[in-house]
Amino acid sequence: MVSYMKKSLESIIGHDNFGLLPPAEYLAELPRHEDTEVDDCTGCLDPCTEHKEYPPYFNIETDFPILGSVKPYGRHIIIATGCSDWVKKIEEEQGTFAYSLSKAESDSTQSKPWKNMVTNSSLVSVHSTLTDGCDVLVLPDNILVANVTVDKANEFYQLFVQTDLPTQPMDIDLISNDSRLGQMKIFKNPYKKLILLCSHKKRDKKCGITAPILAQEFDHVLREKDISDHDAAVVMVSHVGGHKFAGNVICYINDGTRGIWYGRVKSCHVHIIVEETIINGKIVKDIYRGAMDNSFEKQVKKSFLKW
Ligand SMILES: [Zn+2]
Repeated sequence: MVSYMKKSLESIIGHDNFGLLPPAEYLAELPRHEDTEVDDCTGCLDPCTEHKEYPPYFNIETDFPILGSVKPYGRHIIIATGCSDWVKKIEEEQGTFAYSLSKAESDSTQSKPWKNMVTNSSLVSVHSTLTDGCDVLVLPDNILVANVTVDKANEFYQLFVQTDLPTQPMDIDLISNDSRLGQMKIFKNPYKKLILLCSHKKRDKKCGITAPILAQEFDHVLREKDISDHDAAVVMVSHVGGHKFAGNVICYINDGTRGIWYGRVKSCHVHIIVEETIINGKIVKDIYRGAMDNSFEKQVKKSFLKW
């Protein structure tokens, strides 16, 4: 009975539903191994002797289908806070930009056909010159807005969040003339690629366990391949959704216009993600949860599962 129910559930929510995969040309072709002891995706032995494992009490949950587990979203707003853990609900902490932006959104009378994701991040506000200003990345627009302050949340919302999703790179000079900007300054996103790791421990302790282990391995592999921080930045972020899929990793590639979500990521997967996704722009099917809307021109279906 249970297996029947699980099968029905899987057919409803899209397990093995290849319509949720990106077009075939984006899928990485990984070598298959003759040796049955070797994991086909990672190429590692199970248990692995080479990579750092999660502690024994950490169970990677495998009961839920991973494909199609990303809630659709059009834009991702990433706020630099310099921290790697935050209060449980960042939009409820008064005095923060996440709070003000959430309020600006709920006060807005204009509805949009897409959802926005807002996360805090470990990025440090190096482009902001105001003491109370922070840097905010906006994707897929692929820009960094500096000197963003709590009292400019409404203007920020009007200029960068409620506008139509971009179909081409933003004309920074044009928008820089808008008087609503005040002291806010717009730059092209300085990071060619981003690797976001959910590290939000106060939301779910699993992410507090997985993120530091993954970050260490990403740093190691990126350094080994001589990829700088500006070529691919490893960034800790607040809740992205789907803690049962921890370790959660989002890669933004293709000038921030393609957001690839991976789940159940172990340190054994890191070199595959760097080689296939960061360097080659391909998707590793076994750990693929879904993508930011409009990541693939010819994608048949978008994800639809809510967490
Ligand atoms: Zn391994």
